Amino acid sequence: MNPVLSKMLFACGLGLSIPALADTWLIRDARVFDGERMHAKRSVLVKDDKIVDADFRGGAPAGAHIVDGAGRTLLPGLIDAHVHAYRHFELPLMFGVTTQIDMFTGVAAMQQISAKMRSNDNRTQADMYSAGTLVTAPGGHGTEYGMAIPTLTRPEEAQAFVDARIAEGSYFIKIVMEPGRPGHATPTLDLPTVKAVIAATHLRGKLAVVHVSNLADARAALEAGADGLAHLFNGERLSDAELAGFVKLVQQKRAFVIPTMSVLESIVGMREDDVTGDAGLAALLTKEQAAPLKVTYGQQVNAALMAAPNQVVAALGKAGVPLLAGTDAGNSGTQYGISVLHEMRSLVQAGLTPQQALAAATSAPARAFKLADRGRIAKGYKANLLLVQGDAGSDIGALHHIVEVWKDGDAVSPLRKAQLEKVAQELAPRTQPPLALPAGGRISQFSADKLASPIGIGWMPSTDQFAGGKSSVELKVQDAKEGEDGQRPLAVNAKVQAGFAYPWAGLAFMPGAQIMQPADLRGAKVLRFRVKGDGQRYNVGILSSGIQIPVNQGFEASAEWKEVALPFDGFKGIDFGAVTMIAFNAGPKVGEYQFQIADVRLVNE
Ligand SMILES: [Zn+2]
Repeated sequence: MNPVLSKMLFACGLGLSIPALADTWLIRDARVFDGERMHAKRSVLVKDDKIVDADFRGGAPAGAHIVDGAGRTLLPGLIDAHVHAYRHFELPLMFGVTTQIDMFTGVAAMQQISAKMRSNDNRTQADMYSAGTLVTAPGGHGTEYGMAIPTLTRPEEAQAFVDARIAEGSYFIKIVMEPGRPGHATPTLDLPTVKAVIAATHLRGKLAVVHVSNLADARAALEAGADGLAHLFNGERLSDAELAGFVKLVQQKRAFVIPTMSVLESIVGMREDDVTGDAGLAALLTKEQAAPLKVTYGQQVNAALMAAPNQVVAALGKAGVPLLAGTDAGNSGTQYGISVLHEMRSLVQAGLTPQQALAAATSAPARAFKLADRGRIAKGYKANLLLVQGDAGSDIGALHHIVEVWKDGDAVSPLRKAQLEKVAQELAPRTQPPLALPAGGRISQFSADKLASPIGIGWMPSTDQFAGGKSSVELKVQDAKEGEDGQRPLAVNAKVQAGFAYPWAGLAFMPGAQIMQPADLRGAKVLRFRVKGDGQRYNVGILSSGIQIPVNQGFEASAEWKEVALPFDGFKGIDFGAVTMIAFNAGPKVGEYQFQIADVRLVNE
C-alpha cells in the first residue's frame, strides 16, 4: 500500500476511535437523590459526559433531549462495591450499575478496561476499579478458580508482592483471611503477613480491603489496619457484648464494611427471588446470564444463619459506619447488575432506611474508594445516572422500574432494547429436539482400549490439577464382567490431596461434541449407574451452560454392587437442555478413594 495513504487511513482510524461527544439532556422535575439526600423536585442538566447543573432553573437549552421526571427518582449510577468481573461487562448497565469495584479478576481484563476508561471510551460497559490479583497463601481462597496466580507466605515478601500488584495496575489491594469451613481447613495467610501486606499497601497510598468470613478474623483485620472489610459473616446472632465491641472497633478504625448480603444468602441456600421473579428484570438476562441465579452455594436453606449479618448491618447502620452495597457477583447465586438491586433490598430488610441503602450503592462506595468523580449528582460529576419510576427514597422496590440509565452521558436504552430482543429471541421455543439417546440410554461403553460413549466426547479423568491442585486419579477398565449385559466396569482410584481449596478427583463425562459444549439431555429424566467400592461417599456433580460450580447429589459405593438412581430434578438449577459435564467425584475430604462404576444410563425412570 502507498505509505502516505496508509498513514492517512491510520489517522482516520484513530479519529474514528475517539468517541463522539454525547448530547445535552434535561431531566425535568424529578425527585433527585444526590447521593446523600433526597430533593423533592429538581431538574438536572447534563452536557456531554458531565452533570453541568444539578439544580437547573432556566429554560431548556436548544437541542436538549428533555426527559419528564415527574413521579420518578433520579439517582447517581449505582456502584457495586464487590464483584469479580471477568465477563458480561455490559450487563451491569442494564440495571443502572455504572461502576464495579472488582475484588479479584484476571490482570489482562483489568488492564483492558482501565485503558478504555483512560481514553474515555468505556460508554457501553460498566467502569471497573480492580484489585487485580488478590493476596492469598499458596492453596488459599482465591486459588480455586483455575487461574494460576502468585501467592505469598511471609511478611518479608509483602512489599515486593504489593508493589508487583500496583505495577500491574491494581487500584487497591485485596487480602484474604479465610480459614475454610469445619472439617475442611483452607491454607490462609498468618496474621503477621496480613499486617505486613496492609502496611506495605498503605506505604504506597493504596487501600487495603480484607476478605473475612468470621467475627474473629473481622476483628483481627481491623486491628491490623484494614481500610475495609470485603464481607460480613454468616452465623447466629452475636451476643450484645460481641456486637457492641465489633461496632466500636469498626468506628474506632474508621473502616468501611461491604456486607455482601447477596453471597452470604447464597451460602445459606437462599435465592434472589425478588429480582428473578420480576418479569421486567428477568427479561434482561439471557439464559446463560440467568443460570447463576438458579443455583446457590448452600445446598440446603438455612436462613437462620443470616441472623448475624442482619443484626450487624442494622447496628453498623445505626452507628453511622459507611456500609457499601456489594454483591460478590461472579459467584453462584449472584449476577452482575441485577444483584445490586437485590443487595439494596436485603440491606433495607436488615434495618437500613431506603435512603441509607441508596447511599450504600452511590456516595458511600465512591467516598470509601476515593472515586471523586462519581456517586453524586452535583456539578462537574460524571453523568452516570439512573432514572426510575416511583419514589426510591421510600420504596427501594422502585429501582426495579428503570426508565433510563446514562453512562458517561449516553443513554443506555438502545443497549437495553437490544438485550431485551436478544433474550426474547432466545426464549422462543427450541426448534431442535433433545439429543437422541442410545437404546436403553446407556452412555458407558468401557473397553480395554477406549472409554467410549455413543454420545458426546465421552469419558475422561477429572481432577483439581486443571485448577492448580494436586489430586490425581487412575482409571482402569476391569476384566470381570458385571450386570446382565456383561458390562465391563471401570475402576476409579482417586487420591485427593490438599493444595486446592475444594480438592477433587474422579471421572467426567462430557455429552457435547466438544469440550464443555452443551448438550440437550431432556430426552431423559434420571441418571442410573451401578457402583461398588470402599464404602465412602462420593458426588455426582453436573454442570450446565453458565454454571461454573457443579450441583451435586451424593452416593455411596458399598462393598456389593448396587444401582444408584438420581432424578434430574434433584440437581437444582441445572438446565438439562444445556448440560456440559456429568462428573463422579471423590473429595473434598483428603484421602484415598476407590470405586468401580458400570452401566451408566440416562433413562426416563
Ligand atoms: Zn469476592
